[in-house]
Amino acid sequence: MLFQSLTASTLSANALLARENLLWIDGVELRADFLSAVPTDALARFPQLLQPGKNDRGVPVILTIRRRRDGGNFEGDEGKRLRLLRDAVGAGNFSFVDLEEDLSASGSDEEVRRAAYKSGTRVIRSFHSFDGTGGDLGERLVRLSALPGEIPRISVVPHSTRELLQLVRASLRARGQRIVVGMGDYGFPSRILSPVLGNTLSFCSQNSAERVEAGVDPRTMQELYRYSTLNQSTAIYAVIGNPIMHSRSPAYHNPRFAAAGMNAVYVPIRVDSVSSFFDLAGELDIPGVSVTIPHKESVIPFLKEIDESVTAVGACNTIVRDEEGYRGTNTDVDGFLTPLANRASKRWAGGLAGRAATVIGAGGASRAVIYALIREGVNVCVLNRTESRARAVTEELSPYARNASLTWGKLGQPEGNCLLSGHSDIIVQTTSVGMFPDTDSDPIPEYRFHGHELVYDIVYNPPVTRFLSRAADCGCEVIQGGEMFEGQALLQSHLFQNAYRLRSS
Ligand code: NAP
Repeated sequence: MLFQSLTASTLSANALLARENLLWIDGVELRADFLSAVPTDALARFPQLLQPGKNDRGVPVILTIRRRRDGGNFEGDEGKRLRLLRDAVGAGNFSFVDLEEDLSASGSDEEVRRAAYKSGTRVIRSFHSFDGTGGDLGERLVRLSALPGEIPRISVVPHSTRELLQLVRASLRARGQRIVVGMGDYGFPSRILSPVLGNTLSFCSQNSAERVEAGVDPRTMQELYRYSTLNQSTAIYAVIGNPIMHSRSPAYHNPRFAAAGMNAVYVPIRVDSVSSFFDLAGELDIPGVSVTIPHKESVIPFLKEIDESVTAVGACNTIVRDEEGYRGTNTDVDGFLTPLANRASKRWAGGLAGRAATVIGAGGASRAVIYALIREGVNVCVLNRTESRARAVTEELSPYARNASLTWGKLGQPEGNCLLSGHSDIIVQTTSVGMFPDTDSDPIPEYRFHGHELVYDIVYNPPVTRFLSRAADCGCEVIQGGEMFEGQALLQSHLFQNAYRLRSS
């Protein structure tokens, strides 16, 4: 079940927020600690505001008044808070009431519990930590389940991938009803994977006022992550990096999984330790992973096998599992090549082989580009601002230049320009120059395009860079970086679908 956390300052604003999202949610949690005023009668009637028709059952509502020390906004006296809870619950409209762990130990919530029992309201017994996981979560869940009929709830902010792993383990090993959710970037996957981890419910929010954002709105939860379709057999795929929340990959892969009829979900996982991630991958039985900055190199020692693209480029962006373990490949290579080879086959009888290309830039992405070109027999000249880097890249990749030449020069210098003129069938721009927000810059402003060059800029934001529009204005055929991005992601998608078939067979 998916519950929307409501943190607006008035009951009517909360009701409006809930009504706007009824299509995507199963219930709401009213965070009464964020209300600017808490009139008991109105609070008690709040669930009735969510009943669309007279005879409708309405939406289940959890009543929560969270103290500041637990990450909430309630600063008043504890006696007042407990009376508010007791009176609101006593009216019989709330399906659940959230009571913290320490209240049962002290017995101070007895009257609230009695009111809940009489009105058929279930108690959620909760533990909160904003400072990591706060000890053994498995033991904590057992302690929270001590009172019969209560649902244990753990809400913590993991500060590392290892702490996310602890949270996942606690949830997977628990029995009975439970709510185990992580907040913040590290906790994000646990919110989406809640049904896969055996949880009773999870939370989402919109315009949340919470101290640590719940991070995902109800519509995204259902339309992108297909929350209501997830279950304990769902295959979990991931993109890993640090930071990771900006990644476009979930928006790319999830709809393709849905279209392919796969019971699978693709989530962003923030990873500060690759070793912890592989422990997590074992725990969650992850069949496929996209890898992004800064882990493209550090994942390699953890893989059972890597192909030549990874060895040559020195980076792995895709991991898939087969019977023997995890294998790494680099789909940037063929993702870059496919749109170029398509154009080349229409222009030149022999396609790419024997052509001469200039690659501008010698950074991480250039390696996949250079390797792809020399593998296809293209003679390549690498020009870079920092000469030593251009030399290093060409030296490292020269063993793969079996049927091609590989030279280098300094960008912007006369000898560099001369090399460029001699390698102008294809010009590939791989530097970050021209990328948002630096959109007015051009890496080779002095170069005059003749119109015969096939020009490719791997920068995809903006879709058409100044460099590319200048080339197009001179009559050149151009390829946008978005085609490479789509190409590498499509190859990944095929590999992920194969791994899924293997997992299901
Ligand atoms: P990187 O490793 O940091 O390399 C940056 C490159 O840009 C280096 O060659 C650097 O030269 C050069 N550079 C930076 N500022 C410069 C300037 N002011 N003048 C001249 N050269 C400059 O970055 P990367 O990972 O290779 O990524 C580069 C670009 O490719 C980014 O825009 C990225 O978004 C894009 N990319 C696109 C795709 C896709 O699928 N389309 C995939 C990967 C990357 P020095 O060596 O002299 O510093």
